[in-house]
Amino acid sequence: MAQARRIYEDETLEQSSPEIREKYPEFTKILLERRDEIIGRTHVARSHLDEQIMTVPGDAADESVIDTSADYFLTLANAHQKELVEIQEALDRMHRGVYGTCESCENPIAVERLMHLPSTRLCLDCKAAREKRNPLRTVPKI
Ligand SMILES: [Zn+2]
Repeated sequence: MAQARRIYEDETLEQSSPEIREKYPEFTKILLERRDEIIGRTHVARSHLDEQIMTVPGDAADESVIDTSADYFLTLANAHQKELVEIQEALDRMHRGVYGTCESCENPIAVERLMHLPSTRLCLDCKAAREKRNPLRTVPKI
């Protein structure tokens, strides 16, 4: 599996700071809770959509309601999927001992920031610098 490991090559020299490493169990818990919550929300949205399709009689007005719901569900499902991937990647980084290291400047990310955004890859400075270059994206408050 030499090829599969290659994508991580750049990160092999990075290591989590002792402060962050100490909190690995805590971060793992937050990430897993968030993952369960997202999966739960996706299921709720999905069954709500199914319910509408099953119960609504098929006239044009109601069909448009279903269309809107289906669109909404897909948008939601995509956002959830993206978040799940981010969480999985964060757990992966923890597994490799590089969690909480900024992927841009390689400094440790502030613990408070990780507590709020446990799947983040960038420290606040690098995130802010990136937002400046790309002002269309919103700056988080953390
Ligand atoms: Zn940074």
